[in-house]
Amino acid sequence: MTKIIDILTNHDGDKPLISLEYFPPRSDVGVQNLHSRMDRMKNVLSPAFTDMTWGAGGSTAELSLDLALHAQNTGHLANLHMTCTNLGENVDPKEAIYKALQKAKDGGIRNIVALRGDPPAGETEWKAAEGGFNCALDLVKFIREKFGDDFGISVAGYPEGHPNAITEIADPSTLTPEELARSSHFDGKTYCCLEADYKKEMDYLKQKVDAGADFIITQMFFDVTIFTTFVADCRKWGIQCPIVPGIMCINAYAGFRKMTQFCKTRVPQSLDEKMEAIKDDAEAVKEFGVTFGAEMCQGLIDSKTTPVLHFYTLNLEKVVYGILDKMGVTQNALAAADEADAHSQIAKGSAWARVGDKVSTQYGEGVVVEQIASTGVAKIELNKWIMAGGQKPVAYLQKGQYTKIF
Ligand SMILES: Cc1cc2nc3c(=O)[nH]c(=O)nc-3n(C[C@H](O)[C@H](O)[C@H](O)COP(=O)(O)OP(=O)(O)OC[C@H]3O[C@@H](n4cnc5c(N)ncnc54)[C@H](O)[C@@H]3O)c2cc1C
Repeated sequence: MTKIIDILTNHDGDKPLISLEYFPPRSDVGVQNLHSRMDRMKNVLSPAFTDMTWGAGGSTAELSLDLALHAQNTGHLANLHMTCTNLGENVDPKEAIYKALQKAKDGGIRNIVALRGDPPAGETEWKAAEGGFNCALDLVKFIREKFGDDFGISVAGYPEGHPNAITEIADPSTLTPEELARSSHFDGKTYCCLEADYKKEMDYLKQKVDAGADFIITQMFFDVTIFTTFVADCRKWGIQCPIVPGIMCINAYAGFRKMTQFCKTRVPQSLDEKMEAIKDDAEAVKEFGVTFGAEMCQGLIDSKTTPVLHFYTLNLEKVVYGILDKMGVTQNALAAADEADAHSQIAKGSAWARVGDKVSTQYGEGVVVEQIASTGVAKIELNKWIMAGGQKPVAYLQKGQYTKIF
């Protein structure tokens, strides 16, 4: 049974390896469409491995496992994400994780991404389940203890620091050049993972690798030097395993802003300005996503720091094909693209709606006109009344106070 680490360490071809990440969609139709997309992308790109995410708060546990098993049984090398969060009501979390691992193993899966997990939709702080694991390190240790070398294990790495360790900086002039290089800026404020916190993050990452992780997959970033600096730092810390860059596809303006603010990701000024300039033109954003992605991916390959490009596909294909066509890795892959089903690819467990989505609220139905920030607060234009001036009233509602209408 193949482990991803063997593919990564034995790769010596000219072309980079490609790997793809998908998430479990909310509806049955979405799942069927995802099966087709995964099949199509496998035929076009021959990915080295295929990641399936695990829903926030364990909300998609069964579906993640089913989709990963489906992938494994249809010619993908599945890399199943697993988080420390519970797998359902009234279950012992460790026993539930054990059973899920056993089911994955019985189905032929040999690769796991061991994660702590994000808080469930509607909550901002992560809480360990009673009797469960506290962090990804615990999960890595558990897998090695119970399953020995049955699974290849990867863990998450954060080139700009984990969002929990990124704080608002009152006076940016106090930042060192290294801190400045990984700082981010939103709403006129500066954020950064300070040197002392960054060192703690690196010490902790080393512990995850020493406990048995074979390789690291990174959080998204939009600047090649962020990645190469991180790789150099890992080596300084004695972390010698492969480090796989996670590449977020820029598919849409609102999604880009939502994700970068949620993760406090550094957005270089030129990228920020370009996105603002084209934000109202969905096609231009996708086109730019291809141009930007191709340049960044080429920069990563040229840096010789990674054998693989790992795409966060967002369950879509056009931008991935576009990037690889532009780099010359594929020839006219774009011709195979079919995104007519894009609307069905909404993540299961996500309470967030996108700009333009119809939602239901306690004040009746409405349309999301703005997602305010990482909080998930949405500005919603309500349909129920028209005010004297002809405008519709708006409500600012938290995640959980509105639901998307399909
Ligand atoms: C590649 C990738 C894939 C992901 N896939 C998913 C997914 O499928 N589902 C999902 O819900 N989320 C996913 N996430 C998000 C991830 O779950 C969150 O970022 C989560 O907040 C942290 O997970 P982790 O595994 O990095 O946590 P951990 O490695 O446990 O670390 C979390 C934070 O706690 C600190 N910390 C924890 N324990 C210790 C300790 N003992 N000593 C010192 N510091 C400690 C770390 O330094 C870090 O700041 C993914 C993230 C990445 C980068």
